[in-house]
Amino acid sequence: MVKETELHSCETHADIQAREGLDELAKHYYQVLQLLGEDPTREGLLKTPMRVAKAMQYLTQGYEMDAHEVLRGALFKEDYSQMVIVKDIDFFSLCEHHMLPFYGKAHVAYIPNGYITGLSKIARVVDIYAHRLQVQERMTLQIKECIQQTLHPLGVMVVVEARHMCMQMRGVEKQNSITTTSDFSGAFNQAKTRQEFMNLLHHQS
Ligand SMILES: [Zn+2]
Repeated sequence: MVKETELHSCETHADIQAREGLDELAKHYYQVLQLLGEDPTREGLLKTPMRVAKAMQYLTQGYEMDAHEVLRGALFKEDYSQMVIVKDIDFFSLCEHHMLPFYGKAHVAYIPNGYITGLSKIARVVDIYAHRLQVQERMTLQIKECIQQTLHPLGVMVVVEARHMCMQMRGVEKQNSITTTSDFSGAFNQAKTRQEFMNLLHHQS
């Protein structure tokens, strides 16, 4: 006997507020199912178009969110001027070429210049840019720019490590390959500073 909660486990985000166009989106997914050779009227697929529509709205909800605003709303004056590191921020995104997931971890470091922000806000910024159709390189750059433009730190560096389902599921690359991208500004232009961050990334537990 499957418990009710398990039965509906894939609908946990179904109650997120629907954005405009939800019904239209579901209609299109009905057609997509047909075009893929499926029968959208069979029992297992009856609710699928609406589920997919809601899931896709959820996975792209970052379009409606302003990451700069999130950071501006949580700036704290602080004299601390050593490197601040937020590592292992889990993220899930969709590649804009195949609309298939890529996911992994983002690591962010910045050197404050009078202002710091809440650590959870940095994770929130990653989340906002991840919930859009993306390429990993642009997402990395957007996170860096957002922090640079709001906190005005002495430097910021972002490293993103991700697995791309569009490569792994289609067998384009080695199954377990991880793509790493990084971008940096200010003090991180110095190799010594970047190295300090990389050392801290890989040597902490
Ligand atoms: Zn792709």
